[in-house]
Amino acid sequence: MTGIRVTNISPNLKLLDLKPPILGYGKFISSYLVNSGKNAIIDPGPAVAAGGLLEALAEAGTKPEEIDYIVLTHIHIDHAGGAGAAVKAMPNARVVVHERALPHMVNPEKLWNASLQTLGDLAIKYGEIEPVPAERVIAAKDNMKLDLAGTELEIYFTPGHAIHHLSLFDRAHGILLAGEAAGVCTVGKVRPATPPPFKLDEMLASVDKLIELKPAKLCYGHFGCYDNGLARLKQYREKLLAWHKIVTEETGRGKNPQEILTVLREKDSDLSYLDILGNDEYQRELVLLLNSIRGMSSAA
Ligand SMILES: [Zn+2]
Repeated sequence: MTGIRVTNISPNLKLLDLKPPILGYGKFISSYLVNSGKNAIIDPGPAVAAGGLLEALAEAGTKPEEIDYIVLTHIHIDHAGGAGAAVKAMPNARVVVHERALPHMVNPEKLWNASLQTLGDLAIKYGEIEPVPAERVIAAKDNMKLDLAGTELEIYFTPGHAIHHLSLFDRAHGILLAGEAAGVCTVGKVRPATPPPFKLDEMLASVDKLIELKPAKLCYGHFGCYDNGLARLKQYREKLLAWHKIVTEETGRGKNPQEILTVLREKDSDLSYLDILGNDEYQRELVLLLNSIRGMSSAA
């Protein structure tokens, strides 16, 4: 069943489309709601989508005070910038965040400045990051289990897209919430999410960790859930290697990221998704693709 913002994925999992009021950013940021004896939100999204998150919760039939946990897959502004706003609206929720990223949520000044530096105007559109009170954060550890009274979420550190990245696995239902560790999926097609600093070995090790879980379903931080999770992870591993080879070679030939993208579009048929996007979505993808190429290129 699909509503305006809510899509049922499994009996205990809903996909929330936050629809931030930024042109081209609808169906881009996935937030997830796990309904069990306890309730959890995975990635509350940016501050500008705080209202959208509450609307999605209402549509899902879950009250803000019924949320026990807000889990952050990583602390990039599009996933975590709204955590401070969310805990204000959800009085019983605590934020679960990678132990080493935790200080940046309690005091987000450095994170906000880094966001401004990396994203510029887009960071301002996403909205300023509010702090989360120290007494409302929980440090996530590798291999930790989050007990939602009827659903257990296994937490695995999966660095690569970000150093403090984690993924969540609902083993009973075979569902992997991969954040950005399995790339970015647009209308079913996946591209690497490899901003600088890019470390190929670290990223492959994280994908291998996820492959070992053999998920039936793969839920992306961008955007949505798909069956054949294991096959998708294996394809992503191959794609990372193929892109890395192309980007390294073309960088060696003196090509810039824009020129390398032209080569990738010739060699990777999955990039044909770019041809069917509207202009605003296309501009969004162009910026993010060039940033991923820049990551691989600077490590070449
Ligand atoms: Zn993201």
